[in-house]
Amino acid sequence: MKGQTINLQLSTTRKPKPQSDQLIFGRNFTDHMFTMDYTEGKGWHDPQIIPYQPISMDPASMVFHYGQTVFEGLKAYVQGERILLFRPEKNFQRLNISNDRLCIPHIDEEFALEALEELINIDHEWIPKEEGTSLYIRPFVISTEPFLGVAPSRHFKFMIILSPVGSYYSEGIKPVKIGVESDYVRAVKGGTGTAKTGGNYAASLKAQESANLKGCAQVLWLDGVEKKYIEEVGSMNVFFKVNGEVITPELNGSILDGVTRSSIIQLLKHWNIPITERKVSMEELYQAHKDGLLEEAFGTGTAAVISPVGEFVWEGESVVVNGGETGPLSKKLYDTLTGIQTGLVEDPFGWVK
Ligand code: PMP
Repeated sequence: MKGQTINLQLSTTRKPKPQSDQLIFGRNFTDHMFTMDYTEGKGWHDPQIIPYQPISMDPASMVFHYGQTVFEGLKAYVQGERILLFRPEKNFQRLNISNDRLCIPHIDEEFALEALEELINIDHEWIPKEEGTSLYIRPFVISTEPFLGVAPSRHFKFMIILSPVGSYYSEGIKPVKIGVESDYVRAVKGGTGTAKTGGNYAASLKAQESANLKGCAQVLWLDGVEKKYIEEVGSMNVFFKVNGEVITPELNGSILDGVTRSSIIQLLKHWNIPITERKVSMEELYQAHKDGLLEEAFGTGTAAVISPVGEFVWEGESVVVNGGETGPLSKKLYDTLTGIQTGLVEDPFGWVK
């Protein structure tokens, strides 16, 4: 696919663009999309940018039955004349890690990034400009072979769609209440937790639903074996500040390697703030809270960047963090990272492309 030319078929009409303050996450899509097909023996072929439209698929397509699919999520921002992407190569690397796990053929990462840049250039007028807004990018692969046998598909489709999104925090950063999940688990070592694949998210819905019924915004996931060690929060990685030290669960084979997580770790090191990646149990966290040492807790991910936790509910006990308010480190990390992403703060790491 390297060296292949992307066939362009531009839309003759343009859709009306929603107002920035009316944007709901993932509901609006731009005028164009990128698609490329894979056929066994032929490889990836026919890259094209075409008007955004429904796709026609055989009902026997394997993705509908056995979920052989992967996806990514990243954002583009606009700063004056420049379009900024935050560490996009990390997302295409992770796409191939997910592809490996799901028996999907690799995609040339450089080519995928070129295709993305071309698509964004065509639809650049869709990047919202107001503070906190961005263009959310969703690359994904589906298995398209019509076959009901359980086996790797021999045909795939890779697509990139774009969605303008509003500010996650239109009313300012607000800490959330989190329910510690002790029945359902998200992933286990040897499973698919390190891949971004649809099944992980389908499997998380039930726990999310019951957390919502208990008045919690998200679920704190514990490890799938002992249900003791903390893994992730909702679809975010999680960090704690305990007695001056920042701690995040180590990548253990069931936690997703978040781009925001790795950026936060680098930022903390850059600031000489102690950061440790290790196992951390719910008991340890509760003890730190009782000892008055639990200073801050926050989730990290592309959508919210930083999502402070104001309270955990664990086996009926309430663990209130920093009086339910956003802590100073969470705020500083949020301001710095969003500043780098939008080009307003100097980027000492070369993250912005
Ligand atoms: N964990 C899970 C399960 C996720 O879906 C995400 C979102 N991609 C993250 C963590 C955070 O990853 P990132 O910082 O790359 O968005």
